[in-house]
Amino acid sequence: MHRVAMAEGDGIGPEVMEATLAVFAAAGVPVQFEKVEMGLSVWEKGVPAGITDAARETIESCGVLFKGPMATPKGKGVKSINVTARKTWNAFANKRVFRTLRGVPRSRYQHPHVDITMIRENIEDTYGAIEHMQTHDVAQCRRLITRPGSEAVVRYAFEVAQRKGARRVTAGHKANIMKLTDGLFLDVFYEVAQEYPQLRVDDRIVDALAMELVMDPTKFDVVVLPNLQGDILSDLCAGLVGGLAYAPSANIGELISIFEAVHGTAPDIAGQGRANPTALLLSGCIMLRHLGLFPWADRIEAAIDVALEEAFRLPDFGMSPRPFETHRFTDSVIAALAEQGPMGIVEVSPPLVVQPRAEPRMMTSPRIEEEATMGIDLFIDSDRSPAEVAELVNAACAPPLRVTMISNRGTQVWPTGSVYTDCVNHHRVRVEAEHPVSPSSLYALAARVSTDLRVCSTESLLYIGNTPAFSLAQGQ
Ligand code: NAD
Repeated sequence: MHRVAMAEGDGIGPEVMEATLAVFAAAGVPVQFEKVEMGLSVWEKGVPAGITDAARETIESCGVLFKGPMATPKGKGVKSINVTARKTWNAFANKRVFRTLRGVPRSRYQHPHVDITMIRENIEDTYGAIEHMQTHDVAQCRRLITRPGSEAVVRYAFEVAQRKGARRVTAGHKANIMKLTDGLFLDVFYEVAQEYPQLRVDDRIVDALAMELVMDPTKFDVVVLPNLQGDILSDLCAGLVGGLAYAPSANIGELISIFEAVHGTAPDIAGQGRANPTALLLSGCIMLRHLGLFPWADRIEAAIDVALEEAFRLPDFGMSPRPFETHRFTDSVIAALAEQGPMGIVEVSPPLVVQPRAEPRMMTSPRIEEEATMGIDLFIDSDRSPAEVAELVNAACAPPLRVTMISNRGTQVWPTGSVYTDCVNHHRVRVEAEHPVSPSSLYALAARVSTDLRVCSTESLLYIGNTPAFSLAQGQ
C-alpha cells in the first residue's frame, strides 16, 4: 500500500477532494491517504506558516502530498502556502497537462486535439519574491535564475518528453531582453538537449509563443519555461481546453512531490455543490502514475472522459442545459468505472521511500573560468541631475576607479543621453577600473559616497573569463 499525505484545502477544496477520494475508492486505488492540516483553518488558529508540525512530518515521511486549493489571506507579510510548500520541499518542476477533453464546452480545439505538457520552473525567478523599496518611489524585485535550477527543470522536461513519446521540446523565454537571466536558461536548455538527440528542439520568445499557442496549439508538444512566464502561459493553455476546471498539475521534487489542480479555492461557488472536480481527479491520476500505479490512472481517466461527455451532452430540443453538479458528475465517473468491469489482478508498484536528509544540499556547477571584480554599480537615491551625481561620485573615486556611465530605469543618461528620458530618484552609477580591484576597495568607495548621497544598493561588476558578466544600459 502507498502512503500519501492529503490536505483538503479551502473554498471548494473539501468538495472536490471528497469527490476525488470517492472515485479513487471506487477504483480500488491502493493508496492510504493520511489527512494533514494545512491552509486557512491552520492560519486562523494562529500558526503563521499555515501548516502544522505534524502535517510537515507526515508529508516528509510520505514523500507525496495531494492537496486541494488553499487561499492566501490578503495583506502584506503573508506568503502563499502553496508557493511556500513548493519551495520548502524543492518541488522544482511544475508539470501541467493540457489535453482536449471530449464534450467539454469552450474546449476550442477538438479536431485535431490539443495535448501540451507545460513544464514550468517552480522555485526561482520573480517567485523568490526578494523585494525591497529602494527609494520611496522605487520598488525592486530581484529575479534569480540559476544554472543548477535551470538544469534540473530542463532535464526533467526532456525526461517527460521521452516518456510521453513527444517529438518536440520547445523552450519559452525572453532572452532577447534579459540576456543574462533568460539567456542562462536558454543556454542550459540547448546544452541539456544534446543529451537527447532523438528529440526535435526549438525555442520561442515568450510573447510570440503566446500568440502561436492561441493560433495553433496542436503544433506544440512539451514546452519548458521559467517560472513567471510558465505561470502565465499555462493559464492561457487552460483556456484552450475549457478553463481552469480541466487543468491538472504536479509539482515534482527529487524527494517530495505535490499534486494539485491549477485552479484556486473558487470562493464564488464554494459550498454550492457546483465545483468541477475534474482538475483534481486528473492531478490525482498524474500522482498515481508518479507512484507507478498506471492501470488505476488509465481506468480513472477513461471514466472521466465518459462522464464529461455525459455531463455536457446537449439536452433535447427545448430544454435548457443542466447546471453542473459535483455529486451527479462524481456518481457518473463511478458508474463509468463500474462499466469497465473488474480490473483483474495487477501487481502493485513498491511504495516510495524518502531518504532522510540531515542538512540542505548545495547545488553548484564547476567553476571553469577565472572570475575578476572590475567595478561596482552604485544605486543612488537622489533627486539631483545625473551630471551632478556623476560629479559627486567621481570626487569620491580614487584611481583606478572612475564613473563610466549612469543609467536611470535601465537607460543611459550620462555621459550622453536624451533630454527626453525622464528620470526617477534611482540612479545606477557604474564605477569601473581597467584591471581587477578588490571588493573591499569598492565597499570603501560606497562608504565614502554615502557621506553625500544615499547608496540604496550595490552590485559588483564581475568578468567571467574575458566576458563582462553584467548587462549594458540601453543606449550604451
Ligand atoms: P480561482 O481559480 O479560485 O477561480 C477563478 C474562476 O474559476 C472562478 O470564477 C471560479 O469559480 C472558477 N473555478 C475555479 N476552479 C473551478 C472548479 N473546479 N469548478 C468550477 N469553477 C471553477 O482563482 P482566484 O479567484 O483568483 O483565487 C481564489 C483563491 O485561491 C485566492 O486566495 C488564491 O490565492 C487561491 N489560489 C490557490 C491556488 C492553489 O491552491 N494552488 C491556485 C490559485 C489560486
